[in-house]
Amino acid sequence: MASAKVLEVDLNSRSICTREISEELQMKHLGGSGLAARLLYDEGAYKADPLGPDNALIFMNGLLTGTPVPCACKTSICAKSPLTGIWGEATMGGFFGAELKKTGYEGIIIHGSAKAPLYLLVEDDRAELKDASDLWGLDVYETCDRLCKRHGDKCQVACIGPAGERKVLISGIMTGGNQTRAAGRTGLGAVMGSKRLKAVVVRGTLQVPIKDREKLSASIREFTPIVRTNAKGLTDFGTAGGLMGVEANGDLSIRNWSLGSWEEGAAKTCGQKIAETVFVSHYGCFACPIRCGKDVRLEVGPHTGTVCHGPEYETCDGFGANLLNEDLNVICAANDLCNRLGLDTISTAGVIGWAMECYENGLITKEDTGGMEIHWGDGEVILKLVELIGHDAGFGAFLSQGVRRASSQLGGLAKEFAVETKGLEYAYHDPRAFTSMAVNYATANRGACHLEALGYFAEQGVFTLSTLGFDKPFERHGVENKAEIAYLMQNFMETFNNLGLCKFLIRAKDAAGPNVIAGWITSVTGWEISGDDLMKAGERNFNLKRMYNYMLGITRKDDVLPPRLGVHDKKTGAAAGSIPHLGRMLVDYYALRGWTAEGVPSQGKLEELGLSE
Ligand code: SF4
Repeated sequence: MASAKVLEVDLNSRSICTREISEELQMKHLGGSGLAARLLYDEGAYKADPLGPDNALIFMNGLLTGTPVPCACKTSICAKSPLTGIWGEATMGGFFGAELKKTGYEGIIIHGSAKAPLYLLVEDDRAELKDASDLWGLDVYETCDRLCKRHGDKCQVACIGPAGERKVLISGIMTGGNQTRAAGRTGLGAVMGSKRLKAVVVRGTLQVPIKDREKLSASIREFTPIVRTNAKGLTDFGTAGGLMGVEANGDLSIRNWSLGSWEEGAAKTCGQKIAETVFVSHYGCFACPIRCGKDVRLEVGPHTGTVCHGPEYETCDGFGANLLNEDLNVICAANDLCNRLGLDTISTAGVIGWAMECYENGLITKEDTGGMEIHWGDGEVILKLVELIGHDAGFGAFLSQGVRRASSQLGGLAKEFAVETKGLEYAYHDPRAFTSMAVNYATANRGACHLEALGYFAEQGVFTLSTLGFDKPFERHGVENKAEIAYLMQNFMETFNNLGLCKFLIRAKDAAGPNVIAGWITSVTGWEISGDDLMKAGERNFNLKRMYNYMLGITRKDDVLPPRLGVHDKKTGAAAGSIPHLGRMLVDYYALRGWTAEGVPSQGKLEELGLSE
């Protein structure tokens, strides 16, 4: 495999050039967010104002993105986060990454800020900045439709909506039009908006090089039936198909993480109910044998009667149980509004849940909300709040800054209702249900991210931990060996972000272990790489992101759980009585990582990983 080509775009001067990424650097960091972290760390991008022109924004394909490897569809988008002020990263699936790969480029680095709205058009071995003044103000679906009419149905578009344009701190970057796939987390839509870059359009026709196509095909033929069988629930009912099981495990956020069970509500807001009621068709990202996406028909809200991407598990919990809302139609409409406006559904639902609890306790009043009463489960109010947040208008402008800033402004009890770590609202898996997730949430590089470890999958045997060399006893609410589960899963999941793989591949259990994936890398690149080498690359990239954050002052003091998750007993449900003993687990975790007691990677660890230069 030769060096990789990356586009370097300067919006200040409207100039574009090509940068070569050496094979050596790729072997060390693979691609995706690992390679992006290397580039951003080396240029000292952590010093930038997140919404200033110096904050470079990187779109980077994973090493395997766009190849026939199953679910190799992901593109990482990375920059300093304006929401958290630290490492920002979000990943999107769909077809954008595969199309970018066919242009001959692996990624795009965007510097500067345009004077007037622009979009970037990338075709085979060429790129051009174009006027986007007619697109500014359009929502995500309208933007994609217009650009596909202009550049042909085969092009793929990643863009921001009105939320990103207004630099809403919980805005994301979306692809796929009304079949939305979102790089939702850490506010990167605001970074793109601050650059006045409305969209990136890609259309390629070049062949994707594969070193040993025959060997790769044979491995995929063996793998595909296994993952199809093990992930059948995802195929049938989407990610929300797991919601009732999550509730039964005490793993659901209910009423802003304060309650322990919601059985009847879960049955009304899960993937099985979607299949019975509003389901229209199945959807799969590029090269995906699982096809977990579900398109749905909207029955309420401003776009009633239209068809759009259905809510994922996180969105069903966030706008459902988290807000005590049992109306699936409202969840679908809220999801659609977030996708149109370009909002992260997880953070948007999180900040609304926080506001409802503040309102209930008199910390927010009708004077603050512009006359609106914001009670639990009120569907009309939920949709209104999403619109206001997306347009950064009225009371929405207060919520659009995210839970940490909003709760700091109110102070007192409002901070106890705030469920965030390092400024990022929690994804909807409760660390009190599976305590390896407490370690993960506290230490994940982008803040409270479930995907950096997927510890709840590992603890339930959805993925086979022995594939990572772990074969020790543990108890779901206990502390023994939990740090090791978080540590191993973080390193392994990091590689998925570096390779461009969807994490649902781990449903294939031991068939999706590091050795199998390393074999795919060898088939694609010709590199001699083992499963151990792959895990080491994951550890290297995880540590590199920690070093980026350390340069911004992140240490042990920031590796915390919010009061609601760290000291509050839910009292009912399967996680009743469980309080994660984070301090004890962090001691184990730092030792495993080779970090100091203050949570800083030691010089020895950096040298071992080749990060000491
Ligand atoms: S499993 Fe779902 S999210 Fe993952 S690649 Fe397939 S369709 Fe996309």
